Amino acid sequence: MTADKSSIDTLVVGAGQAGVAMSEHLSRLGVPHLVLERDRIAERWRTCRWDSLVANGPAWHDRFPGMEFEGLDPDAFATKDQVADYFETYARRFNAPIRTGVEVTSVVRQTGRPGFTVETSDGTIEANRVVVATGPFQRPVIPTIAPRDANLTQLHSADYRNPAQLPEGAVLVVGAGSSGVQIADELLRAGRRVYLSVGAHDRPPRAYRNRDFCWWLGVLGEWDKEAAGPGREHVTIAVSGAYGGKTIDFRGLAHQGMMLLGTTKSFENGLATFEQDLAANLKRGDDNLMSLLDAADAYVIRNGIDLPEDPEARVIPPDPECVTHPLAELDLTKAGVNTIIWATGYSIDFGWLHVDTFDEKGKPRHLRGVSKEPGLYFLGLPYLSHRGSSFIWGVWHDAKRIADHIATQRRYLSYHDASQRRQEAGHARTADSSGAECDGSASHAHRANEIGVN
Ligand SMILES: Cc1cc2nc3c(=O)[nH]c(=O)nc-3n(C[C@H](O)[C@H](O)[C@H](O)COP(=O)(O)OP(=O)(O)OC[C@H]3O[C@@H](n4cnc5c(N)ncnc54)[C@H](O)[C@@H]3O)c2cc1C
Repeated sequence: MTADKSSIDTLVVGAGQAGVAMSEHLSRLGVPHLVLERDRIAERWRTCRWDSLVANGPAWHDRFPGMEFEGLDPDAFATKDQVADYFETYARRFNAPIRTGVEVTSVVRQTGRPGFTVETSDGTIEANRVVVATGPFQRPVIPTIAPRDANLTQLHSADYRNPAQLPEGAVLVVGAGSSGVQIADELLRAGRRVYLSVGAHDRPPRAYRNRDFCWWLGVLGEWDKEAAGPGREHVTIAVSGAYGGKTIDFRGLAHQGMMLLGTTKSFENGLATFEQDLAANLKRGDDNLMSLLDAADAYVIRNGIDLPEDPEARVIPPDPECVTHPLAELDLTKAGVNTIIWATGYSIDFGWLHVDTFDEKGKPRHLRGVSKEPGLYFLGLPYLSHRGSSFIWGVWHDAKRIADHIATQRRYLSYHDASQRRQEAGHARTADSSGAECDGSASHAHRANEIGVN
């Protein structure tokens, strides 16, 4: 898996699931390429998540089409290490040309000719095309409201590993998407006093009528949606495969002792304040759950499918005290809170990409991953082409389409008009009659392939 050239047709940056999928499809199409990864294959699954994390989708779903998780029940949820191992094994199976431990530090467009100059921690590479597969979740975001208080331990969910890592005492978890609610649940089970700040969220059922929600999203066409919809861009999804996979039940967690709070508003002199939106946020999550159950029931009837009824899924526990009388503020010292975990998401970081393809907010401009800059592609970003784009199974299909686009572009560029073809035939004849041992056109083609103009 090493590169002995300083030029390549297509350079893929990043060897997470997106980079591995890209390499598979480029290999299938015979596109000369190289994948550069600054750490190890699937490093983010390996070391950038908490110890007990399991996949949010079952093993039959959260995988590439060509390989199952070996030794894992298809309905089980793979651990983060099993997911990392899966991608390593997958890449090995087709001998993916991946160089690990090499960071791409800069990509600059060539002037007066196509292609890019790519600076890496291991030298310069000329590439005709670059596929940016550096992940949907690159830089942990902590909002500016975070207090400047040296007595508080504050960390992003990306840096949380396990309860023992935190100092003794109560914990405030800000953000109740999949990460926040899973971490809060783990801390509660470990005997911590937990405060969970709950914003707008979707809350699908883990399973309904003997089918996982991943299945329902698939058959109902939800994974195929091209955009989150107006006003829904910041709605997080609360789902978990932990403890065998259960529907996230905020009220249930509150009945077990977790203190639910509305959206975090501010911190001042040790006092945290919260919006009075907890009940509304829970209601919105309930509505989302019910709408999926309704759509599932309608699908069952319309298609005459024999799936058992599941009335339990519609049961919503009574509102706990913290919902009926929500706290507007919390004195952190009095509550014994000395740790805040910010489960507040990630942003992208393309500081190393010096190309003219970003909008005024710094977001890449692209059409289903094909950027405005010819030869530059993005892969794995949320809603790159559809809702599944940033997830394991979805990125594989986006990678396939982008690889096809690259192969098509290569075919356009290899087109020669009649006069060029005549000229080439003439050269070939001259080479033949001169009795050259090495076929000129073949060696030209070989060279062209190496530098990727073919
Ligand atoms: C907590 C959490 C749980 C998730 N659970 C699931 C789940 O259960 N199922 C699911 O389908 N999805 C899940 N996702 C979403 C998604 O699958 C993951 O984020 C996944 O890691 C994305 O894969 P990727 O290859 O696009 O990016 P990444 O895994 O982030 O890989 C990008 C790679 O690029 C490398 N890189 C970055 N910059 C450079 C550079 N300049 N030079 C060289 N290399 C570079 C990085 O080291 C990294 O290895 C989860 C996400 C999070 C945060």
